[in-house]
Amino acid sequence: MASGDLPTAAAPKTILIVEDNTLNLRFFSDLLEHHGYATLTATLGSAGVELAREHRPDLIVLDIQLPDISGMEVARQLKDDQKTRAIPIIAVTAFAMSSDRAQILASGCDDYLAKPFRGSELIRLVELYTV
Ligand code: MN
Repeated sequence: MASGDLPTAAAPKTILIVEDNTLNLRFFSDLLEHHGYATLTATLGSAGVELAREHRPDLIVLDIQLPDISGMEVARQLKDDQKTRAIPIIAVTAFAMSSDRAQILASGCDDYLAKPFRGSELIRLVELYTV
């Protein structure tokens, strides 16, 4: 059989998680891997920007409160760069005010989940933005 006839499994979609809380980071990565996604992780915003530029993930799960630059600044930098602008970003944050939500979306995040949320809510949004 020619190599071209071999069944090829679809490459898993890659999700970059930027989250400084290591318990949350572990929860998100375990959840996403359980649902068949490959994950990349960063605990600093600057490292998240670098990983996004290097790997061009299919989607980014982005915490807003980070120790170096805010998640909103991460989103701005990625949406200002034509190489990374098309990557969907789902913000996850404990901020709950509607004005915060508007600011987060204005920074370039495509969607938003307020912590705490169910794993199924995150998976639903990830699936929505990676079809
Ligand atoms: Mn945080």
